[in-house]
Amino acid sequence: MADWTKITGVGDVEDRRGLSTGVLAGGGGIVTVIIVFALNYFGIAVDPALVQTAVTQFDQATATARKQSQPPEFSGDDSYQVFTAKVLASTTDTWTPIFASANQSYTAPKIVLFRTATASACGGATSQMGPHYCPADQMIYIDEIFYDALKTKFQANPTETAQAYVVAHEVGHHVQHQLGAFDARANTTNAASVQVELQADCYAGIWGYSVSKLGVVAPAEMRQAMDMAAVVGDDHIQRNTTGRVSPETWTHGSSAQRIEAFTRGYNTGNPGVCKNF
Ligand SMILES: [Zn+2]
Repeated sequence: MADWTKITGVGDVEDRRGLSTGVLAGGGGIVTVIIVFALNYFGIAVDPALVQTAVTQFDQATATARKQSQPPEFSGDDSYQVFTAKVLASTTDTWTPIFASANQSYTAPKIVLFRTATASACGGATSQMGPHYCPADQMIYIDEIFYDALKTKFQANPTETAQAYVVAHEVGHHVQHQLGAFDARANTTNAASVQVELQADCYAGIWGYSVSKLGVVAPAEMRQAMDMAAVVGDDHIQRNTTGRVSPETWTHGSSAQRIEAFTRGYNTGNPGVCKNF
């Protein structure tokens, strides 16, 4: 079993899971429009005051239901937040000395945990986007329902180490951003985007090397993380959890590349091997 107590640091994790979002708050309004539209459609005159009362009651009921459905562990530092903070700290422990050896200083990113939707400097983060890195605010956005989707839609097994790999991959994008490589290559062509993703997997492998050396993660567990890399290595594939892209477009050929990229970093611990993709 992985032993995260060997990581003494704590990463900066902001927990926004208990917060109501603009998207959710607007729900009542949308329902109102539909109700009024439906009633008008059937030729029923609607007293606006009655509708307003109904909507207020609806909003209150939804707010109460939402509050009650919020598991108590999310009101404070629950295990997922603590775990994520440890994983983030382990990536900082990995990259700080590597940057230092090149006379550069490493600034760790921040992780934002959220539900459904939240604000970001990249135009907002939603669950549908999957875990992702926003270079504009240097934050990683994660909604845990992503892991549920992996189970239900891909029959994948998001073990703790596999979840840690996802964080390490996103931190890989942050490393690219710090080195000035992310912004130059991301979002240009598909090929460049794939190169960026494979390099992030290679950087995740560098992290894998580091935590294995510390005895935090056992080799068999790291193998599970690699399997996860094969299934959902990049952010674009993660978008598949929404069902918008058919699996045929990504399952052929990419798994091997992804495992190769991770293994390159994992076997050497040398970021120099992640230069060429
Ligand atoms: Zn990525």
